[in-house]
Amino acid sequence: MPRRPRRPTRVDTHLHLSRWWNDLPRTGYRPDLDYTVRGLLAEMDRNAIEYGVILQLHEAPSVAEGLAEARRSSASANGRLLPVSTVDPTRGPEEVRRALALWERDPTLKGVKLYPGYQSFYPHDPRVEPILEFAHRRNVPVLVHQGDTLTPGGLVKYARPIELDEVAVRYRDVTFVLCHLGNPWVHEAAELVYKNENVYADTSGLLAHPSAPLFDRMVAQARRVVEQAVVTVGRSDRFLYGSDWPLEELRVAVDLIESLDLPAEDRAKILGGNARRLFHLPDRRPGSS
Ligand SMILES: [Zn+2]
Repeated sequence: MPRRPRRPTRVDTHLHLSRWWNDLPRTGYRPDLDYTVRGLLAEMDRNAIEYGVILQLHEAPSVAEGLAEARRSSASANGRLLPVSTVDPTRGPEEVRRALALWERDPTLKGVKLYPGYQSFYPHDPRVEPILEFAHRRNVPVLVHQGDTLTPGGLVKYARPIELDEVAVRYRDVTFVLCHLGNPWVHEAAELVYKNENVYADTSGLLAHPSAPLFDRMVAQARRVVEQAVVTVGRSDRFLYGSDWPLEELRVAVDLIESLDLPAEDRAKILGGNARRLFHLPDRRPGSS
């Protein structure tokens, strides 16, 4: 029997599912959104997304509680939701040591997230070094929030892509992900990806809330921005699809990539192929080999 051509695996590399998410009725893309593992999986299924990377929030009261929550979500999603933990290096070396001890004992951990713009530190701050050394030992990526902060209390000077260049050079064996394509410093982000083979960028967070009056034009602008970044780099293999759910609807975020004026092969890589390689994910859909 001839085999039907299969759609490549899709991976959403930037999701948040946490009881510490702030003000869901206001920030969620829809006020009545089903903000549960079940709700997320149903939305992933509707958009043919196989895996989701869950980034823990800096609002979690402790690393241990954040990690425990991520593990529970992952277990109840039959491994389709992949945990990424976070720690605030400005809380001192003891806090970082405790986080490292927890991470060392967790074989399911898929990466570490840093929030420089929210916690006021540069990625090249010496307090971050033990985290980068852990990422090197464990061969997991370091995802770095970049660009605009969701709250006006953040300090975006810490969140510019250029601030990551020094560690990208010093830690060539560590892979970094510039979240949100550094928005609004998207050209700076593209340069970092172009120059550093160990730097990726995700496409999450390029859109405001869907209720914004200029939302449709924002989608068109985001499309141009992602296309320009890919063209600047000259290759699509270090760009990752991400939604920043629950801020954005998965359908809108997937459509953004599907509508890019790029060859289908490149869109498929951005939607999942690159993430599968980065996070070492099997193709586990029914009928896959
Ligand atoms: Zn996010």
